[in-house]
Amino acid sequence: MRGSGIAREKRTVSAMVRMYCRDIHGRRDLCEDCSSLLSYSERKLDACPFKDTKPTCARCTVHCYEASMRAKMRSVMRYSGPRMFIRHPVLAIAHVSDRRTRSPRKVRGT
Ligand code: SF4
Ligand SMILES: [Zn+2]
Repeated sequence: MRGSGIAREKRTVSAMVRMYCRDIHGRRDLCEDCSSLLSYSERKLDACPFKDTKPTCARCTVHCYEASMRAKMRSVMRYSGPRMFIRHPVLAIAHVSDRRTRSPRKVRGT
């Protein structure tokens, strides 16, 4: 199951943030903090310098997130990552596949 890595990573991150907010913050819709985090990650994915050759953000050598957002996303990943295989197995398997097969490359001109 290939396709746009960025589009799929957006779906994966969205599922992870929603799971985290529902379980940890007790919200069915996203709380303000998690909503900002998700919007922030989508903006970063849209502006990713690696484009179609991007690694998963967790394996990126650039780490374009600011420190506070990176810390929040790390908490989300730590909680939701292992649970993805139970609740969103298709996305989880595709994400692991991306982690194994993609690696950061320097973008020409940057
Ligand atoms: S962390 Fe790396 S892979 Fe993720 S959006 Fe930023 S530059 Fe791209
Ligand atoms: Zn939340």
